[in-house]
Amino acid sequence: MISYEVQEFGAPLVRAEHPTPTPQGDEVLVRVLAAGVCHSDLHIWHGSYDLGNGKSLNMVDRGLKLPVTLGHEIAGEVVAMGPEAGNVKVGQKYVVFPWLGCGECKVCKRGEENLCLAGRAIGVYRPGGYSDHVLVPHARYLVDIGDLTPEHAAPYACSGLTTYSALRKFAPRVFKEEKLVLIGAGGLGLMAILIAKALDGAGVIVIEPDASKREAALKAGAQAAFDPKAPDCADQVRSAAGAPSGWCLIAWDRARRWSRASVCSPRVAIWCRSVSSADTSTCRRRRRRCAPSPIREPTSAISASWKS
Ligand SMILES: [Zn+2]
Ligand SMILES: [Zn+2]
Repeated sequence: MISYEVQEFGAPLVRAEHPTPTPQGDEVLVRVLAAGVCHSDLHIWHGSYDLGNGKSLNMVDRGLKLPVTLGHEIAGEVVAMGPEAGNVKVGQKYVVFPWLGCGECKVCKRGEENLCLAGRAIGVYRPGGYSDHVLVPHARYLVDIGDLTPEHAAPYACSGLTTYSALRKFAPRVFKEEKLVLIGAGGLGLMAILIAKALDGAGVIVIEPDASKREAALKAGAQAAFDPKAPDCADQVRSAAGAPSGWCLIAWDRARRWSRASVCSPRVAIWCRSVSSADTSTCRRRRRRCAPSPIREPTSAISASWKS
């Protein structure tokens, strides 16, 4: 099979040919039809994550070994399976759940493999989707995509799960009754708008400094999109979201930058793309600090954040 590997951090991917694996036991061989490029792929390719405050997370310290075939948003069709693979069909199209754990620890055994400390995620610690085939260790990691195209289905494995998880942090009734204020309308933000709509949320208000992204957000179904640099941004958001009951989702890579923007709302959920406990605790600290905030004027803080 042909794969495009990271053989050296930061260097161009290298085309490599290896024998196509023959699935054994529970394994399933999937022919890749679509593979998304996630921002995490860029961090892994670079070899480290910038955690802010001069700290970084080195992928080698996290157990990554080169060469590696990246790509954890994969959709494809089953072409072969081991004798114990069970309920999958050759020719059927699936999206691959990539967040594999060790399968042995208590975290994995209670069904939270994505939280396993000995994770072996596809496209990070195991060969991923930047290849023509990927070997999946068990059929339970395959989700039938029905009549979705592989290109549409693939991003649900990371971008989709990430945003769904963040949105489900809110109690269902709150989510259905209160507007969501979404900060940032990049790839994850747009996915969040689509999923919020599919979950019958009360509506999404977007804060985003880039005009083209605001336009994309409106096209995706946001009810309003505001520029944080506008002097009356806070008033616009409050008016659209119905403060003080409007609430705020602080999102994506800008969580640190935007922590002060939570003053828009009494209800705050912070989701951060962190993979380290250090970064997560930073967010938790901020959540404690932000959550009880009364409504104050956030405009200057927001503007300052974007300039920094
Ligand atoms: Zn990802
Ligand atoms: Zn485990």
